Amino acid sequence: MATKMPIVVASENGRAGATAAMELLRQGGAALDAVELACRITEDDPADHSVGYGGLPNVLGEVELDASIMDGRTLRSGAVAGLHGYGNPITLARKVMEELPHVLLVGSGAQRFAAEVGKSPADQRTEEALLRWRERFVDHGLTPGSSEHLIEMARQLTRPVVLQDRGAPLAASSLEPAPRDDTQGTVNFLARDQFGDLASAVSTSGIAWKYPGRVGDSPIIGAGNYCDNRYGAVACTGMGELAIRASTARSVILYLKGGMSLREAGFEALRDIAYLQPSAHQYMNIVALTPTGEHAGFTTVAGRSYLYMSAEMDAPELAARTPLDAK
Ligand code: ASP
Repeated sequence: MATKMPIVVASENGRAGATAAMELLRQGGAALDAVELACRITEDDPADHSVGYGGLPNVLGEVELDASIMDGRTLRSGAVAGLHGYGNPITLARKVMEELPHVLLVGSGAQRFAAEVGKSPADQRTEEALLRWRERFVDHGLTPGSSEHLIEMARQLTRPVVLQDRGAPLAASSLEPAPRDDTQGTVNFLARDQFGDLASAVSTSGIAWKYPGRVGDSPIIGAGNYCDNRYGAVACTGMGELAIRASTARSVILYLKGGMSLREAGFEALRDIAYLQPSAHQYMNIVALTPTGEHAGFTTVAGRSYLYMSAEMDAPELAARTPLDAK
């Protein structure tokens, strides 16, 4: 059987992961292993405030992680949502896929499973993330203490006290328009290996300051992630509620299945999002990779990019995402 040219597609924050994934694919590795590895690298990076360790917390100061992985050969998939106190949710998602007859575990069940498969608890909050949370929700102006002091403070803060003392109900404080760009974000990886198999992985800490227990599109198969060797792999970043409502990732796949070109399929999915009438700060980005190695990015806002790297390239390159108004 003729081998295929390996290729990796990623969201803009996936440069280090995409490079490592390509190295693995060049050595004959599987697409599924490549996307998991790539996600782990982003999850471990404290400088990425939208994924894994260092992700910005929810409105209570707790980091809750969402991730999913999908195998295009078999359509097997695994996901975790609202994972608290453990790192590398993508690896746990893969274990859900491979070791359980389930697709998605949430919250305390996901944590129980993490312990059962031998993962050690690991606080995902960095000093910086806690400081930003505290500046926003707790004190507005007290001199920040040491990192230990911050963490201890965060531990001691009981949930209702933080917000009720300030007279704000939880729902009003969460999901406000993001004042800084890194309060949103997710990492997407799509890969095709030399055997022509496709895989996709998505990982996020969700939207910063989210309501506790809020789950976005990233761990929802069909919303933020979908992969099928026959048609392609698709993943999303942006306001997850939009991709859940429009089943965005699966929609792109179905539009491809129906015979549309990749460009037409992406536009159609953007039109589905536009129909939801998102507000100004709610955007949606899509990346897609077909079995033939064609790739594209789409966006509801101008000026967004994605990364791609084929086995012939020395490094990932940026490509523009096509906005809905481009024709
Ligand atoms: N899609 C992610 C979520 O809704 C966040 C993002 O990509 O900005 O949780």
